[in-house]
Amino acid sequence: MIQPDEIIRSNRRTLALSVDSFGRLIVRAPKRFPEQRIFAFIQEKEAWILRKKAERQGAGIKLPPENLNGYTLLLLGKQCTLYVVQTAKVGYDAENNAIYLPEKNPRERLIRWLKNNAKRILSEVTERTAKTMGTTYKSVNISSAKSRWGSCSGEDAIRYSFRLIYAPKEVIEYVVVHELAHTKHKNHSKAFWTEVATYVPDWKAKRKWLKLHGALMEIF
Ligand SMILES: [Zn+2]
Repeated sequence: MIQPDEIIRSNRRTLALSVDSFGRLIVRAPKRFPEQRIFAFIQEKEAWILRKKAERQGAGIKLPPENLNGYTLLLLGKQCTLYVVQTAKVGYDAENNAIYLPEKNPRERLIRWLKNNAKRILSEVTERTAKTMGTTYKSVNISSAKSRWGSCSGEDAIRYSFRLIYAPKEVIEYVVVHELAHTKHKNHSKAFWTEVATYVPDWKAKRKWLKLHGALMEIF
């Protein structure tokens, strides 16, 4: 029997189940809806819940503990462990896949470090890819967006969420191609996707990776 991780009661009229990006089963129910009927509904939807949970948990993303020490983060698609140590500066050891964080404000320092590196990597990839695609853009900026990985304005100003730095390089390249394709097509038309496919033939697989790893948007 599957247990819900959270039951949220409100003024709603119907019962709804959802599996969040961490694989937790969330039940939304009317205020006085009987518990046994909730459990009956869960049982009825068991196959769907198990499938969703497997999909989410397969990505293996967990929420970081309050003290970040020992937490494993994805960095360019590779597992990287955080260590909170006596240091003044954030240190990165590529050989041992480790990031060393100072004891004072480790979370803020990590986020700043991720943002700086995201800016450097994404600016570089965007510049190179724009040349390959024969297009230009106004600027590259890094945001803290949790709802989207990237965006391109009407004036061709490109924004990426710093969280994109968790993704493998090929996935990052897909997002860059996607945003640059918007400098030519301001929509998601067939012509837009044809343009994307010219540079990333398996863009569907990359998009799927981002969807499956949606929880990465919420860890910090
Ligand atoms: Zn788009």
